[in-house]
Amino acid sequence: MTPEPRDGRIRLTILGGYLGSGKTTWLRHQLHAGAFGPRVHVIVNEAAETPVDDALLAGAGGVTLLAGGCCCCTGRAALIGALRTICDARSRLAASAPRLERIVLETSGLADPGAIVAAVQADPVLVSHIVLVETIVTVDALHALAQLATEPLGRRQIGAADRLVLTKVDTAEPQALAVLRATLGEINGHAALSAAVLGVEVALPPQPTDARPAPLPLLPDEDARGPIRPAQVTLPEGLDWSAFAVWLSALLHARGDDLVRVKGVIRTPAGRFLLQTVRKVVQSPEILPEQGDARQDNSIVFIGRGYRPEDLGRSMHRFLGLPSA
Ligand SMILES: [Zn+2]
Repeated sequence: MTPEPRDGRIRLTILGGYLGSGKTTWLRHQLHAGAFGPRVHVIVNEAAETPVDDALLAGAGGVTLLAGGCCCCTGRAALIGALRTICDARSRLAASAPRLERIVLETSGLADPGAIVAAVQADPVLVSHIVLVETIVTVDALHALAQLATEPLGRRQIGAADRLVLTKVDTAEPQALAVLRATLGEINGHAALSAAVLGVEVALPPQPTDARPAPLPLLPDEDARGPIRPAQVTLPEGLDWSAFAVWLSALLHARGDDLVRVKGVIRTPAGRFLLQTVRKVVQSPEILPEQGDARQDNSIVFIGRGYRPEDLGRSMHRFLGLPSA
């Protein structure tokens, strides 16, 4: 779990998942249970012009409906506009007034959450008001295996997740569920995994040790660079931070399409910071409380494909003139 920033920016959670994967059911239950706190604004995006029953989202402080365009592509401008409106309204409040703390964006089933994150972070106004804390993706335990075999979008959604919520687990055969979990691990081994039935969290059965992922044939819309994998790089003591920033920029510039996310806590003379990138965009670092879990410090996870994990550390050491890893 990413440490939460305390710099006054609104925390943004993106909820994605394939059509029919149970996003709305899960979100309704979470709001009802207060999982996102009292000061939460929900944005619901429907690619089609379908009215949503706002009353079903009771528990949210405010609801914005964006219909008739998917926020990751055709409806991107509408999303940016809605987020700016929310930020403006919050900025006008007196300092003592209760302020919005969180936005949850329920994407359309057609959306690539990574594209939404990149769009929000590329906006010069939003980046100073909103900080992405988590991308949650719901996965239909019954149908996801079939979808992943044929749909590149389903794979991209899972690849973009920090947390995967397996829905409808009560309806899946134990064997099929085990194969699905192994397959999700192939696509995104870094995401936390939980399960829910009708929005209520349930325990996952122990994963059989002999469970193997389903074959994922290369799809026409996909590249041949192989699955997305996490790689951990530990930063050495006394690192030259400006040189590190140059190396990271150079890396993202050259390989930003391969690197889905970079995430880590860095401890610098100026304090502890949460470092995050999405594709080529570096999120302006958030200051973290000093008393956080120090075991996470100076350890950075690179999630991507098309390179060998060990080459990342090697590249950094060479660039910074450090002894080899
Ligand atoms: Zn889209």
